[in-house]
Amino acid sequence: MRYNLGVKYPRGQQERNGIMENCIFCKIIAGSIPSTTVYEDKDFKAIMDISPAAKGHIIILPKKHISNIYEMDDDIASKVLIVAKKIAAAIKDELQCPGLNILQNNGEAAGQTVFHYHMHLIPRNQGDKVKVTWEPGSYQDGEAAQIAKALEKRMLN
Ligand code: AMP
Ligand code: ZN
Repeated sequence: MRYNLGVKYPRGQQERNGIMENCIFCKIIAGSIPSTTVYEDKDFKAIMDISPAAKGHIIILPKKHISNIYEMDDDIASKVLIVAKKIAAAIKDELQCPGLNILQNNGEAAGQTVFHYHMHLIPRNQGDKVKVTWEPGSYQDGEAAQIAKALEKRMLN
């Protein structure tokens, strides 16, 4: 099943050789829109985020257009964290930041604004202005177990 999650492509938009027309990140990967590259291999390009949450904020882009995690194949899914690990270590060593957030938004409701999968690496410092927070919620009796069971059952298929 293909999930769209708020992806709004103009009617008739086409994907050719893994490149989606009118996708800003596909254009960056193709080199038709400039970017500042920090890492590149055959599957990924990592660039400086143009509107950084903090200095050194990097986004990792798979070269083949996929909109979100639901469209990711296992090969790319398993490789992306290896790239993230490599870049995270470089950020930590170079910027000497005591913290780092890894964030990845799927769908408009989750704050995704560019519908080409990307993973954010955001350097964090004590008392900085970055906000990645939520109000802790709670479950009613048995609710967590019920959801867990339902999810577990789905993953058996
Ligand atoms: P998200 O809200 O998770 O979809 O994040 C999209 C990210 O892409 C934002 O952090 C933007 O600042 C970043 N972004 C958008 N356009 C560009 C661009 N041309 N070059 C680099 N980063 C970009
Ligand atoms: Zn794309």
